[in-house]
Amino acid sequence: MTRQQIIDRARSEGRTVLTEIESKEVVKQAGISIIDTKLATSKEEASSISREFGFPVVLKIASPDIVHKSDAGGVKLGLKTAKQVGKAYDDIIEIIRQKYPQARIHGVSVQRMARPGVEVIIGMSKDAQFGPVLMFGLGGILVEVLKDVSFRIVPLARRDAAEMIREIKGYPLLEGYRGREAVDISYLEELLIKVSDFVEQNPEVKELDLNPIFAYSDGAIAVDARVILEEGK
Ligand code: ADP
Ligand code: MG
Repeated sequence: MTRQQIIDRARSEGRTVLTEIESKEVVKQAGISIIDTKLATSKEEASSISREFGFPVVLKIASPDIVHKSDAGGVKLGLKTAKQVGKAYDDIIEIIRQKYPQARIHGVSVQRMARPGVEVIIGMSKDAQFGPVLMFGLGGILVEVLKDVSFRIVPLARRDAAEMIREIKGYPLLEGYRGREAVDISYLEELLIKVSDFVEQNPEVKELDLNPIFAYSDGAIAVDARVILEEGK
């Protein structure tokens, strides 16, 4: 499905929340690098997709009503066999049905397990005065607890992207702290520009979160995406 078809389908169902699967498809079409992800609607399909991807894989609940998938018990990482995948599929559906009986369930998203990297996040929200604003930060507790993030107004120039990465306090972690891998900063700059372009070209997108993106010495890849649409446009 094209970006517009995905958005139209959500709207026709009265939704402003796109699932992870839909969000990833939409941003992928804008050239943003996303881990390979497919929707499975049965455990057999989940197993066959994982064989196609190769193990290990990750399974996640696909529901427009479950925005925080791991908090809900809807994420299973590091699945190494088709049998583990089948069981994870059933466990995820069961726990979500139990905890959120009203949730609309599209199935389960199956994806490649990304190798460990430095987790960063890129977000977009709309400010009443400035319009769309991009946020950049390091993932995990650095964002949640320390709020170590930077902001720039869309559209971003290359220089804005370079500055917003360097002005976070955790920047040394991206340069390879204590023997850790130094990440490809220029790739992250390009990624910020691509997100800025996407936001400019898609005014019907109200909020965007790529959280986390795994950054490496040779590129970066988003493993989770969330798009929220403007009301009825
Ligand atoms: P949510 O933010 O809805 O709880 P995520 O999709 O972000 O769910 O998954 C939770 C965490 O699991 C991520 O922050 C990341 O650390 C890890 N994770 C998710 N998907 C992958 C993946 N494909 N490969 C490796 N790690 C992943
Ligand atoms: Mg996430």
